[in-house]
Amino acid sequence: MKDKILLIDKLLKKKFGLSQKSKIPSDPINLLIATILSQNTNDRNSFKAYNNLKQKYSSWEEVAQLKVTQIERLIRIAGLGKQKSKAIKFFLTSLIKERGKISLDHLKKKKNEDVLTELISYPGIGVKTASCVLLFSLLRNVCPVDTHVHRTLNRIGLVKTSSPDKTFFALNNNFPEDIAHSFHTNLIRLGREICKPAKPDCKACPVIKICRFENKSASENKNLYKENSFMLLDNV
Ligand code: SF4
Repeated sequence: MKDKILLIDKLLKKKFGLSQKSKIPSDPINLLIATILSQNTNDRNSFKAYNNLKQKYSSWEEVAQLKVTQIERLIRIAGLGKQKSKAIKFFLTSLIKERGKISLDHLKKKKNEDVLTELISYPGIGVKTASCVLLFSLLRNVCPVDTHVHRTLNRIGLVKTSSPDKTFFALNNNFPEDIAHSFHTNLIRLGREICKPAKPDCKACPVIKICRFENKSASENKNLYKENSFMLLDNV
């Protein structure tokens, strides 16, 4: 599997280039809230919801004092407002209760598995959100798996899994060093721009020669996803 991951990575880099990493790692609390907001919506709306919180309140401590309904109103644009506002409120207030402050600095000393176990113990925080904290904030060599990464890797034939979480564990079990950021970012681009859910544009695909997907097709839709229209998690 390692060799195949390296080959996919090489082909993706040839097409999309080396992903741009932020010089400063994302703050883990910012990242975690942004990732909760990004669930089941597009990046433009989740970014607006995130900014509604950040611009109105100067600290997460202030957000923690709000009622769930107040948070819900501010983040409504990102959808699933009830669930997301509850998850944010619970997470922030739990940190205050458990640690006396809103900080995840203690995670820096923990192993990947322990970070995952701790973060997914909070309601509303799943493996994808926790693994984004590992990659973008703690700079670990861990590749988060969203629907795009899950779909493309199954089509290519690297894994045969029934959910993004199962793909995550299959993929990261023995992942090659130092390529998680580019692999993750470029696979998302592949899934958004070329290997779309309904009609993949296989003719334009950099991994067509190694892809095992049987229903390859060429899309007539040339409206490619605009790169600057999505929120990069390493910039929050
Ligand atoms: S060849 Fe087609 S199905 Fe395979 S990864 Fe590329 S776009 Fe997706």
